[in-house]
Amino acid sequence: MPYGYHGKILHVDLSTGKIEIESPPESFYRKYMGGSAMALYYLLRHVPKGTDPLGPSNVLTVFPSVVTGAPIAGLSRINVNAKSPMSGAIGDSQAGGFFPAEFKFAGFDGVVFYGQSPTWVYLSIIDGKVELHDASHLLGKVTGEVDRILKNEVGDEKAQVMQIGPAAEVGVRFSAIMNMANRANGRTGMGLVMASKRLKAIVVRGKIHPEIADPKNLTALNKIGAKWVTSNPDVDGLAKYGTASVVMPQNQFGTLPTRNYTEGQFEGAEAISGERMADTILIGQDTCYACTVRCKRVVEIKEGKYKVDPYYGGAEYETISTFGSYCGIDNLEAISSAHQICDMYGVDTIACGATIAFAMECFEKGIITKEDTGGIDLKFGNADAMLEVLNQIVTKTGKLGPILAEGSARAAQIWGKKAEELLITVKNEEAPAHMPQAKRSLALIYAVNPFGADHQSSEHDWMYEKGIASDLYLERLALLGLTNPPDPLSLDNEKVKFAAITQAFYSMMDTLEMCQFVWGPAWSLFGPAEAVEMVKHITGWDVTIDELIKLGFRRINLMRAFNAREGFDRKDDMLPKKFFKPLLGTGPTAGIALDQHEFEEALDHYYHLMGWTENGLPTPTKLAELEIEWVNDLVQFN
Ligand code: SF4
Repeated sequence: MPYGYHGKILHVDLSTGKIEIESPPESFYRKYMGGSAMALYYLLRHVPKGTDPLGPSNVLTVFPSVVTGAPIAGLSRINVNAKSPMSGAIGDSQAGGFFPAEFKFAGFDGVVFYGQSPTWVYLSIIDGKVELHDASHLLGKVTGEVDRILKNEVGDEKAQVMQIGPAAEVGVRFSAIMNMANRANGRTGMGLVMASKRLKAIVVRGKIHPEIADPKNLTALNKIGAKWVTSNPDVDGLAKYGTASVVMPQNQFGTLPTRNYTEGQFEGAEAISGERMADTILIGQDTCYACTVRCKRVVEIKEGKYKVDPYYGGAEYETISTFGSYCGIDNLEAISSAHQICDMYGVDTIACGATIAFAMECFEKGIITKEDTGGIDLKFGNADAMLEVLNQIVTKTGKLGPILAEGSARAAQIWGKKAEELLITVKNEEAPAHMPQAKRSLALIYAVNPFGADHQSSEHDWMYEKGIASDLYLERLALLGLTNPPDPLSLDNEKVKFAAITQAFYSMMDTLEMCQFVWGPAWSLFGPAEAVEMVKHITGWDVTIDELIKLGFRRINLMRAFNAREGFDRKDDMLPKKFFKPLLGTGPTAGIALDQHEFEEALDHYYHLMGWTENGLPTPTKLAELEIEWVNDLVQFN
C-alpha cells in the first residue's frame, strides 16, 4: 500500500493521441521521489542527444512528488522539465498554487508528454479519467479568459488549469506555463516547449487523495508551524508584505540590482517596497493549497492607464525588482501593470524585465538608437517606454518585440557593438535580483546551476556569515554539518562547502516539491529536522537527513549528466563579465566586484566536493555512489 502517492504515471504521446499508464515499483518512488529527479529519469532515456528543444523529440514532464497535496503548509508545488529552448541545457521550473495538489487528487503522480500534436489540444484529468480535447477555440486568448472557459467546460469551478498564454503561441522564447492565471512555471522557456507540442492546457480535478501514513503527527506538525509563522521574523515579514518584504533590506545591504546591475542601491526602493504596496494598491492576501503563511499578494488598480485586475494576483519581489530597480523605475503601479501583462500573456517576469533593462542600457550607451527602438525613448526610469516594449515583446510585434522576445543573450548577438558586455546571463538565462557581488556563494551557484542563474537553488550567504547569521540559522545549518561560519564577502572553502550542501538541500526540495519559504535549511518556517519528520509522516518511510541530501545530489548529477551529453562543461559554468567590474552608485557595495581568480579557485573546490572531474563532469564513481549507474550507459562523459 503506497502512502502519499498513487503508483501511477501517465504517458501521453501527443503525435498519436495514445495514452498509457505506468505503475512503477515502490523502489522507484523512494529513489526519485518526484519533481525534476523523476523527470530526469525519463528525459535522459527519451530525449536523444542534440534534440531540437522545439521539435517533436523533446519530452515535457510535469511532476509533483510523493508528498504533494498532503495537508500541511508548503507542499503544493509542481515541476516542469524539458530540454530548454533558452540554453539547450536542461530546463527546470517550479510553481505553486492549487494546481499541484489538485493534479495529485486527479489520480496521478506525474505526466510525461512525447511528440507533437497535429492540432492544438488540451488534456483533462478528472478523477482518474484522462482525455485529450480540441483547443482551437482557446487560441489567442489571455490566461484569465482561458482559465474561466476551461472551468466552465469541465463544469467545475474547483478545477485547476495549467496553460500557456498567447506569448508562447507566437513564439516568445522565455514563455512561462501559468496556473490559476497568476502562478508561473516561469524559468527556462518551458512554456515555449509546451506550445511547440501544441498542448494549450492541462485541466485537473479530483477527489482521489492518497493515504497518509501518520496523519495524526502530520497535523500536529502543521499546528506547530502555524504558531511559528508569527514568531519567525522572516516568515512573518513574508506573511505581512509578501516576497516584496525584502526590497528594503536588499537596498540597505546594497544588493538590489539597479539599472541593469550597474549599482546595488536604488533611490526609488521605498516607492516599490512591500510596505508601500500594502499602503496603496493591496486588497488582499492569497495562498497555495493548505499553506498558513499566505505570502501571495492581490492588488487592484481600478482606474487610469495602469489598471490592474485582482484576478492576476500581485507582483513578487523578482518582478518588482526586474521591472523596477533593474529598469530604474520607481512606479509601483506601472510595475504592477507589467506584472499583469506578463501573467496574461504568459512570460517569465525575470527574463522579460531583465531583458528590457539590458535594452535600456544598450540605449543609454548608444549601442541602439531611436532608429532601432522605433522612436521609443528607452531610457532607464521611463515606465511608459518599459510598458510599450513589454507589449511588443509579448506579441512579438514592433521594432523591438521580435528581437527582445528572444531574450537578452540572443539580442546581444543581433546588436553586436559590445552589447554582450552588458549581459547579465548565465547559460542564456537572465540572472534574478540577488547580487552575487555581495552574496559570493551565489556567484558560484549562478555559474554551476545546470539550468542557469537561479536564486532558489541554494541558501544565501547571509544565513551563514559571522556577525550576520542568527542563532536559528546556525542551529539549523549545524544539522547539515555546517558549523564554522565564514566572514562576510568571503568565497573560501567553507563558503563553497555551504554552497554545495545547501544546493543539495534545495535540490531535494525541488524533487519533493517543497515551498522554500516553508521548508528550508536555515530561515524558513520549518528546518531540516521537521522536513525529515514530514516525509516520514506522509510516506511511512524511515528516511534520514542523509537520505534526503543524497536525493538532492542525485538530482544535481542527473541534470549535469543531461547537460554533459549536450556538450556542457566547465566552459559553460561562467559568469557575466559585468559581475567582475566594480559596482557604481552608493551604499555598502559601491566599488565591489567579484574576483576572477577567487571565483576560479572556488569552482575547482566545488567540483572537488561534488566528486566531479576538473572539467565539471560527473564520474562513474559518483554516479555509482548515488545509485544511478545506468546513466553511464546513456552519456559519454569526456
Ligand atoms: S509560503 Fe507562499 S508560496 Fe509558499 S506555499 Fe505558502 S503561500 Fe505558497
